[in-house]
Amino acid sequence: LVAEMTVSPLPPIVGRGAMIAILDRSEAEESEQVRRDFVANVSHELKTPLTAMLGFIETLRGPARNDAKARDRFLDIMEREAGRMNRLVSDLLSLSRVQSDERRRPSSEVDLPMMLRGVLATLGQAIDTAEMRVETSGLGGTQRIPGDPDQLVQVFQNLIENAVKYGGSGHYLGVTLYRVEYEPTLRGAAWAVEIADKGDGIDEIHLPRLTERFYRVDTHRSREQGGTGLGLAIVKHIVNRHRGRLKIVSHKGRGSRFTVMLPESLRRG
Ligand code: ADP
Repeated sequence: LVAEMTVSPLPPIVGRGAMIAILDRSEAEESEQVRRDFVANVSHELKTPLTAMLGFIETLRGPARNDAKARDRFLDIMEREAGRMNRLVSDLLSLSRVQSDERRRPSSEVDLPMMLRGVLATLGQAIDTAEMRVETSGLGGTQRIPGDPDQLVQVFQNLIENAVKYGGSGHYLGVTLYRVEYEPTLRGAAWAVEIADKGDGIDEIHLPRLTERFYRVDTHRSREQGGTGLGLAIVKHIVNRHRGRLKIVSHKGRGSRFTVMLPESLRRG
């Protein structure tokens, strides 16, 4: 029921001689396949809204030409589809930026409680609309850690948005910040941000693949919600860049908890 991703900033240490050649080849082949799948996915994701829009343009030129009601309805749908493409392209750009940044350590600092209060305020309307009771803990005061402000905002925004989109039926949102004296996987002190909902939860078979690009538990539902399938992949890469760790605990029918652990300092290695 638990999926964990721990990322070491350095490439794995491999043995010498023939073993390296074997590893290299299979890794190269695998990444080529991954790239091909990615391009196929992007093309499909862009083509779906495009095809719909082209269809509506044709109908507007033809049968619906003089039907004002139909025209308004079709324009609404086209606007929604164009919005979907816009979000997808923005997420693709974010992902590529985050991936190319991954080896560079963030050089600025963030105030975690203030950032979390800000994200909750930004998403206040969506949280209210979903009628979620918000419970927070540890969000008072100031706590500075090394981090890229724009990227970490994106992490918390994506996770809270997901809690609203997929966990809203439980009408509960928990946002908790606490310090961990020693986090073994990070070999030092860490700050943990927990984002929890009591919604539908995720079946355990999906957990290991949840942060893959375009992986969705329910594609139809994700599309309905305006999802691009890239949110958690972006989260994963940003957490990696911060030398942190993402932990997902979810129980089908009972809700989910996403924990982001961030090192208190980036002194090491
Ligand atoms: P999307 O754009 O589809 O929301 P994400 O990468 O953010 O893409 O999430 C991937 C999938 O993980 C979602 O489509 C959804 O099925 C599942 N998911 C994410 N967060 C939650 C949550 N809090 N509760 C249940 N399912 C979730």
